[in-house]
Amino acid sequence: VWNFSAGPAALPLPVLERAQRELLDWNGSGASVMEQSHRGKRFMAMAAQVEADLRELMGIPGDYAVLFEQGGATQHFAQIPMNLAGEGDSADYIVTGHWSEKAASEAASYVRVNVAANSKADSYLRMPPRDTWKLDASAAYVHIATNETIHGVEFQDVPDVGDVPLVADMSSDILSGPIDVRRFGLIYAGAQKNIGPSGLVLMIVRRDLLERKGRPMARIFRYAEHAANDSMLNTPNTWGWYLAGLTFQWLREGGGLLAMAERNREKASLLYASIDSSGGFYRNPIEPAARSRMNVPFTLHDNALDALFLQESEAAGLLALKGHKALGGMRASLYNAVPMEAVQALVAFMRDFASRHG
Ligand code: PLP
Repeated sequence: VWNFSAGPAALPLPVLERAQRELLDWNGSGASVMEQSHRGKRFMAMAAQVEADLRELMGIPGDYAVLFEQGGATQHFAQIPMNLAGEGDSADYIVTGHWSEKAASEAASYVRVNVAANSKADSYLRMPPRDTWKLDASAAYVHIATNETIHGVEFQDVPDVGDVPLVADMSSDILSGPIDVRRFGLIYAGAQKNIGPSGLVLMIVRRDLLERKGRPMARIFRYAEHAANDSMLNTPNTWGWYLAGLTFQWLREGGGLLAMAERNREKASLLYASIDSSGGFYRNPIEPAARSRMNVPFTLHDNALDALFLQESEAAGLLALKGHKALGGMRASLYNAVPMEAVQALVAFMRDFASRHG
């Protein structure tokens, strides 16, 4: 079967197979990785290797810390302003869909939120043009979500926001292609799409931002403490950390992020072309220049066919195509672990379904 889940999403098959092989006896220890002390020699060595692999994959410079956090991306919607904004500070939020809107509303408990651009009035079908953004040069940071998992829009380029640190929620497109980490002050991503299991949040943060005082808060919320303690201020998500490491190795062995970007572009192009050439049977309303490579929402010309489409697609081994309840219709998520073969199978099914019900 092929799994098009938006998240938690499919993991690369070789990663799952290796985890299965190692489940009961990891690294010659005679026990599972889940049963090891995070402070033990074996786990510490693995953690260092995972970070080194990620640094190499993404080209993360030495003046950026890599953190393996918990709490889901949602917790960090709140924790980021706690850390980066002091009393009375404001932060700019670019709202381009459900997740960036939620990031702004959660942040509002800890920082004065300035929504500097918002495409809600456009039903999030396109990105707010950069020249309409009302950025504030004295903002503590500018926040974007690089890819909107529900609305299916994605930034194609990193926006220029001047000297204010750019903070990016990359939960649903991290590792989908190379990025210039230096363009960002802080990158964060829930693991459950392109990294590993839920319950782990990867964070890449420029070290000078760790020195910001932020608000008074308990140590456990302070990123600087997490960095100073190698993400082991308390017991980390050891299982998630291990699986993330297997995914990073899989990416490296597959040719790195450039090769992945090429595959992702081909996959998304095939699906969008098939939707656009269906004579209106299927429809994706997003402006082509803003379309996500990772999440492709689409509708059928007659929603009375939705239930049948889902039933038949599942029977054909194409899983989790039901759209998010906010939009209805369908959504195919094409994360790194979804191979071209899966998209070819989906497109063939869609063509056949349309020919029988058009
Ligand atoms: N940001 C984006 C872009 C997402 O797709 C999601 C959903 O998984 C979240 C944030 C929320 O993540 P979590 O459920 O890990 O809090």
